[in-house]
Amino acid sequence: MDATRRGFLAGAALLAGPRSLKAAPGDMPKRKLGRTGLEPTLLGFGCMTTTDASVIEQAADAGINWFDTARGYQNGNNERMVGAALKSRRQKVHITTKTPARNRAGALAHLDTSLRELQTDHVDVWYLHNRSNPSDCPDELFDAQDEAVKAGKARFRGVSFHANHEQMFRFLIDKGRTEVILVSYNFTMGEKIEPLMKEASDKGIGIVAMKVMAGGWRRVREGDPMREKLSRPGAFAAALKWAVRRPFVHTAIPGILDLDQLDENWRAVTAGYRPEADGKLLAAQLDLIRPVYCRSCGACTGACPKGLPVSDIVRYVNYAEGYGEFALGRDQFRLLPEPLREVRCSDCTRCVVECPNGVRVAERVARAQELFA
Ligand code: SF4
Ligand code: SF4
Repeated sequence: MDATRRGFLAGAALLAGPRSLKAAPGDMPKRKLGRTGLEPTLLGFGCMTTTDASVIEQAADAGINWFDTARGYQNGNNERMVGAALKSRRQKVHITTKTPARNRAGALAHLDTSLRELQTDHVDVWYLHNRSNPSDCPDELFDAQDEAVKAGKARFRGVSFHANHEQMFRFLIDKGRTEVILVSYNFTMGEKIEPLMKEASDKGIGIVAMKVMAGGWRRVREGDPMREKLSRPGAFAAALKWAVRRPFVHTAIPGILDLDQLDENWRAVTAGYRPEADGKLLAAQLDLIRPVYCRSCGACTGACPKGLPVSDIVRYVNYAEGYGEFALGRDQFRLLPEPLREVRCSDCTRCVVECPNGVRVAERVARAQELFA
């Protein structure tokens, strides 16, 4: 880091987070989150991989007002850290969390635990976490969300998903019981789902973008042969700019691990997308990550004869190798049913899962087995 940049960040860390961070890169815009009446900053903060509470505190002091966590992140410790960091700032920030529960009672019990850990009496959006099929959203879970809103424990009801975008958008728009959608959205996906995102936004649903960096890759460790290839200067900033370039994306929540990343993300969002220069960076980045990054297009769903959820497993290995979050990838992998954890791709003579987007499926899934099983 050069001296000017270090000085800039040191100033931000000391006090005046808002002034020192905002002064150089420009004010952070806000957008209306559908019909909720909330106005998140266009740069939000995905807390999933953050372990340093002071980064969250300084982001809030710099003016970021949207913080996302989940019951399951870091075995529940993430909510505790977010709650401690934001407790004294609660009035000026929005906190969102999620439940992985599959029934009403379990979900409501999770929410009570979340509120306790977050040290707050309500969350601003309470999501059903990671629902990539309409069957993952039975009515009793929507009923639980209604109850939570009625009780004042959640302000708005949300659903998050990583895959099966077209079916999930159609389902949630038509169902009409969801006020905020949290969806993986990045440059690898192209513009195919954008008409549905726009339709949802036009109908008053808030849209929050996650996984905007397409796998992270900022955290590939020193010495890892993938580091040089995958962590290209400017590519992450360009990816973030791409994700917020449309007005129907109301905020984006990249992970932010340190002040360097906070600074880079802030500058990217306030600079805006430049189709020519940023487009070139992203085209090159896509070529690099193609063999390892699954864009959750769903084309291989059900294709593995041994029943492996290929897209999920490729995501887990990317948590380890892209985000540098080995424990997160391992913990997600270990939630798979035991028979699936015991499958070994090395026992197949040939992988029948063909990815039209170039992911080397057998190699990536075998890597997950090697790392986590
Ligand atoms: S592995 Fe390929 S085909 Fe399967 S979901 Fe990912 S990108 Fe789509
Ligand atoms: S190599 Fe792995 S992913 Fe491919 S078919 Fe066999 S078990 Fe499934």
